[in-house]
Amino acid sequence: YCCQGGKPSEVVLLRSFTYITPLLLLVLLQVVASDGVRAMMESALTARDRVGVQDFVLLENHTSEAAFIENLRKRFKENLIYTYIGSVLVSVNPYKDLEIYTKNHMERYRGVNFYEVSPHLYAVSDNSYRSMRTERKDQCILISGESGAGKTEASKKILQYYAVTCPASEHVQTIKDRLLQSNPVLEAFGNAKTLRNDNSSRFGKYMDIQFDFKGAPVGGHIINYLLEKSRVVHQNHGERNFHIFYQLIEGGEEDLLRRLGLERNPQQYQYLVKGNCPKVSSINDRSDWKVVRKALTVIGFSEDEVEVRTNIAAACMTPTFHFFVRDETRIHVDVLVVLFQLLGVNGTVLTEALTHKKIIAKGEELMSPLNLEQASSARDALSKAVYGRTFTWLVNKINASLAYTDDSYKNWSVIGLLDIYGFEVFQNNSFEQFCINYCNEKLQQLFIELTLKSEQEEYEAEGITWEPVQYFNNKIICDLVEEKFKGIISILDEECLRPGDASDITFLEKLEDTVGGHPHFVTHKLADGKTRKVMGRDEFRLLHYAGEVNYNVNGFLDKNNDLLFRNLKEVMCMSENKILNQCFDREELTDKKRPDTAATQFKASLAKLMEILMSKEPSYIRCIKPNDSKQAGRFDEVLIRHQVKYLGLMENLRVRRAGFAYRRRYEVFLQRYKSLCPDTWPNWRGKLADGVATLVKHLGYKPEEYKLGRSKIFIRFPKTLFATEDALET
Ligand code: ATP
Ligand code: MG
Repeated sequence: YCCQGGKPSEVVLLRSFTYITPLLLLVLLQVVASDGVRAMMESALTARDRVGVQDFVLLENHTSEAAFIENLRKRFKENLIYTYIGSVLVSVNPYKDLEIYTKNHMERYRGVNFYEVSPHLYAVSDNSYRSMRTERKDQCILISGESGAGKTEASKKILQYYAVTCPASEHVQTIKDRLLQSNPVLEAFGNAKTLRNDNSSRFGKYMDIQFDFKGAPVGGHIINYLLEKSRVVHQNHGERNFHIFYQLIEGGEEDLLRRLGLERNPQQYQYLVKGNCPKVSSINDRSDWKVVRKALTVIGFSEDEVEVRTNIAAACMTPTFHFFVRDETRIHVDVLVVLFQLLGVNGTVLTEALTHKKIIAKGEELMSPLNLEQASSARDALSKAVYGRTFTWLVNKINASLAYTDDSYKNWSVIGLLDIYGFEVFQNNSFEQFCINYCNEKLQQLFIELTLKSEQEEYEAEGITWEPVQYFNNKIICDLVEEKFKGIISILDEECLRPGDASDITFLEKLEDTVGGHPHFVTHKLADGKTRKVMGRDEFRLLHYAGEVNYNVNGFLDKNNDLLFRNLKEVMCMSENKILNQCFDREELTDKKRPDTAATQFKASLAKLMEILMSKEPSYIRCIKPNDSKQAGRFDEVLIRHQVKYLGLMENLRVRRAGFAYRRRYEVFLQRYKSLCPDTWPNWRGKLADGVATLVKHLGYKPEEYKLGRSKIFIRFPKTLFATEDALET
């Protein structure tokens, strides 16, 4: 300015400017700075508002379902799909790939305490793993939720977590690979596209992962439950048969298809197009076949076994199987030959068995011809039996490849993963829903036994006084279903065995006579002889712990009987197909005793499952589906409220809030936080309990926030612990 020859007055102005400018800048800076600070503070304040609380226990209004759902909604909007209720993990399906399952994420959760990191599947997985190792107690992770809620995805992610983070040797790597590869195989044969989920598991699955003393996975074992066999012969509109069929005809190698006598066009196969949607945009059957084919090899299937297994799959869908019952005479023998070859049976004998029934009259065996309807149902029964039994064979085969072979490792520990159907309430509920909901009642019993009861017992053992929480014990409903002689299953079996006029309706009548007065059972009949108009005459209603469900009895007897005519069994027992030969045991023919009904078998398998789970320490993952259209970002409040109810989450929270959210053994607590108090740092020399008392007093814990038991400190709210954790960081 001066150089440009400015006027003196301008120079004065300039001078004053040079003094004023820094001042102005300072003021400006302060304004900006304070705005920044304010903004930071505001964003910190609103962060909780925006993302909600990471543990529902921290909700101020914890009894309000609306507040619960609002918290879920906030977090879902921010892609925070995981939230705790104490140690229970609630997960909402994001329907999009989130960057939260990377190796880095796995590392972040490894060996870190539950409450130190944000909620995640990995936190639960790691917690179970560490408890197994440090306490030497077997663990189980129970995953529940309705179809499409993300159970199977969660179980796969947990398995991956262990596969990546656990120590490995060469042998262990093989087992890890086999454990991981068992998923695509079981999904190919046991999953299907349904209206609710493009990859819906049509069977329940419990998988044990066995770890050696070094914490490396060295074996595994799978138990399957109640495969939906009826899908092999029937699919609702918009649904498909099991994936394997489509994979085979889309991806199968040319010469394989030639050998199996299959064409690439699914329209050729009536069994595959009943739902009228052989192609699904989210599924690539061709590449999935390659994945399955490779997985079979990793698991240890020989070429021969793969071929034999695909024979059976091919047989189940082959059109000749479907058509020849309709008009046996018009089928050319050379077409049938393929089917007989696939099944490894004699053509004439099978044809006879599918169209005739063997009856024994006056000690003589007679072959009585079946009408069209009977023959069709015999064929369907055979299809279902072949598919169902070979599925179990597949599971056994995988188990053999996962089995522990080294005798020196007898002392393993186990983490079990349960991926099983959640409560099902449809417009029309049948035998399958009855079994599935019964299973959920049993799991609720287990939850009560393992969590609520043991929680109360622990307080007693530790000498902590507290108000016992009132909760509904659903044993009364389990008894209604499973009790000997007078439970619903017993009555159903009785009707299945009764010769003569037994039918679905006589079953319902018998139910009314036997359990009509039960407080959890309702039919159209009222006590005064009048009828309840809102209910059909072929329905009964159960008041389940999670809510009411109406069941239609049509088909109950048939589904429970699950019978295969004796002559069909005989033919299959003679099969030269190596796998079928193992699936249809000749002993079945000599055994005079009737095989157990489907419901009784299921009841027995559930009882065994309960035994297995009872011996373990449980963790829970409750999965929620955010909408019915499989869309990312859509949060359907009505649908979610329904699930919160059926998953029993509010009750879960109530119990959790009533008790103490966290407990730690004195030595663990002291070790972790001793640095926060000069009296306990670096080492406390007195009694552990006194050390903890000194420490929490110094930290300013209020008396209502904690209690000191015999060996542990009990902390009522997680926020107390969070504050202590924060203090540790600063
Ligand atoms: P079903 O009872 O029918 O077997 P499910 O509870 O096992 O249902 P999944 O098959 O696990 O449901 O999930 C359904 C679909 O939702 C998956 O195929 C995937 O597309 C999506 N999904 C589930 N969990 C996640 C997740 N954590 N991240 C991204 N997508 C997910
Ligand atoms: Mg599933």
